Amino acid sequence: MSRKIFLDESDIPSHWYNIVADMPNKPQPPLNPKTGQPAGPDDLSPIFPMGLIQQEVSADRYIEIPDQVRDIYKIWRPSPMYRATGLEKLLDTPAKIYYKYEGVSPSGSHKPNTAVAQVYYNKQEGVKNITTETGAGQWGTALAFACSQFDINCEVYMVRISYDQKPYRKVMMNTFGAEVYPSPSDRTQAGRNILADDPETSGSLGIAISEAIERAVQDDHTKYSLGSVLNHVLLHQTVIGQESIKQLEYAGDYPDVIVAPLGGGSNFAGISFPFLKNNLSDGKKTRFVAVEPASCPKLTQGEFLYDFGDSAGYTPLLPMYTLGHNFKPAAIHAGGLRYHGASVLCSQLLKDELIEAVAIQQLECFEAGVTFAKTEGIIAAPEATHGIAQVIREAEQAKKEGVSKTILLNLCGHGFVDMQAYEDYFAGKLSDHSFSENELKNGLKEILEMQPEA
Ligand SMILES: *Cc1c(COP(=O)(O)O)cnc(C)c1O
Repeated sequence: MSRKIFLDESDIPSHWYNIVADMPNKPQPPLNPKTGQPAGPDDLSPIFPMGLIQQEVSADRYIEIPDQVRDIYKIWRPSPMYRATGLEKLLDTPAKIYYKYEGVSPSGSHKPNTAVAQVYYNKQEGVKNITTETGAGQWGTALAFACSQFDINCEVYMVRISYDQKPYRKVMMNTFGAEVYPSPSDRTQAGRNILADDPETSGSLGIAISEAIERAVQDDHTKYSLGSVLNHVLLHQTVIGQESIKQLEYAGDYPDVIVAPLGGGSNFAGISFPFLKNNLSDGKKTRFVAVEPASCPKLTQGEFLYDFGDSAGYTPLLPMYTLGHNFKPAAIHAGGLRYHGASVLCSQLLKDELIEAVAIQQLECFEAGVTFAKTEGIIAAPEATHGIAQVIREAEQAKKEGVSKTILLNLCGHGFVDMQAYEDYFAGKLSDHSFSENELKNGLKEILEMQPEA
């Protein structure tokens, strides 16, 4: 039996797959918060290039991947798939476990799959600078890499506390040529206002988004880029699932259940949507399990409502599962999962019960991550350990029921720049998190009041 399943460079998909074409209930439109009317391309054109706006609203089933993008994908794609023989043996389970490993990319996660595509469309339209925000630094690193490939200037607003605590992510971005500023900065009005109020602030993702958008709106040659949540981001990630279908074909297998962590929804969608197409059109019965942190449980405890995508309230209103845009998740180490909402596409699919969601506490996740490192040799990103924890639950359930099943995990990133998290776990400094009813309700109360008339 092979432990890894490689594909050829010629197997890199030629198209991205757009789930909108096959959804039984189409996603509801984003709304302009001022008018309450569906947001159109004009609402987005100051910050995104038209090529991406067209993908954002497209209902075409397949969208061709430009040759130049496929050529850059070749640096790390096709990514390997592994049979987790070490983990299977330890768990003594009848289940077969496979994982698709996206940690082989230049930034160490799935995010370059969309960063390269986004920068390509910006370049096509003559954009000279791209701005973005980054929390833990995964997205900033991916965009910095992509900009270096197209010779575009990259400006990253990094949440102050991460800037101070994660110096190596910043150096990675600098190595790819990006400028990295701690946010709030004195480069924007939004930043200056916050600093005037509180010079010692540690910043937030919401403030960093405001700074990056402000820079893009002010300059014709500058656009803004987002690393998750939006339809076009999920679209670009479907190369993961398409490659996985081929790899499992070589192994003579097909997944009964697919597991992936969910922050905004892009890596989950990337591996799931091409298989979900087969459920919708070929009668396959695969289950899809999105794993969120118990400290930020939008899918399992949030509500399906219109809410802002950012805490500053700059984006259109999106119909999604949310905890409210002012919800403050606990400071867990899986920074990529600390987001108050979930993508519109994943939200609609969950509402229609075509996918499932589960919330897991961080101690169980880190324990699973350490088990995975010892059996499979890969130290997973804290976000990815959420997927591993659910895979272990599924494999133990299979053992209890005495049935074999095939499990596929998206191992979306390595944890080499997150060793502080593992150190804190070993030192017993991490804890689980539970909410009082009020904590969850308060974030939601505010947005219940701003729902559009039915
Ligand atoms: C950003 C990130 C996530 C969360 O984002 P999604 O859009 O939900 O995929 C998860 N894992 C890693 C490693 C990330 O970098």
